[in-house]
Amino acid sequence: MKPVHVSTMTGKLKGIRAINTDTTSNPFCQKMQKTNAICKECYSQRMLTSFRKCCVTPFRKNSELLSSRILTKEELPHFVGPVVRFSAHGEVINDTHFINLCNIAAHNPHVTIGWWTKRKDIVSRLRHLVPANVVLIYSEPYVDVPNQVVPEGFEKVFSVYSENSQVGARINCHGGCITCRKCYAHNGIAVINETLK
Ligand code: SF4
Repeated sequence: MKPVHVSTMTGKLKGIRAINTDTTSNPFCQKMQKTNAICKECYSQRMLTSFRKCCVTPFRKNSELLSSRILTKEELPHFVGPVVRFSAHGEVINDTHFINLCNIAAHNPHVTIGWWTKRKDIVSRLRHLVPANVVLIYSEPYVDVPNQVVPEGFEKVFSVYSENSQVGARINCHGGCITCRKCYAHNGIAVINETLK
């Protein structure tokens, strides 16, 4: 049995446990990097092709494992911490990947999971499978989008604004997820805005 690889994050997500996959071999990520979306400056792609190359192998194993078949109950990881992140690296690959992450969340009802995704197409099909302990966050693909609204099926929208943005968005993400936890709670805060780094 190949276990799911669980990461302990650094940087902005320092100390948070996460289930990641490989951005560099993800067809959705690779396609988006060729567009005008924020993905063209993807931090994950940069890390995994430079100082975090060592993570490609375990993340790629997760990509293969999570997207190829539905995991058995015995294979689902168990978390103790209060919050977990899904897809800090790598986007959801397909429906099987989405269902496996839903099953992992359901297997850990005592944990609140922050799950960022741009895959509105998959969410529209499978939203009914997302357990109540998941905070599903739409990761806006474009920079400086005015007047954000939360898309159907999501609980929050996360957007990025350039330093000289004329849009006037209120920046309310300042880093340090493990203490902030704004995105890891059903708290009525629907719009999260960060300054582009
Ligand atoms: S608002 Fe808080 S929890 Fe959400 S991404 Fe920013 S630092 Fe992390």
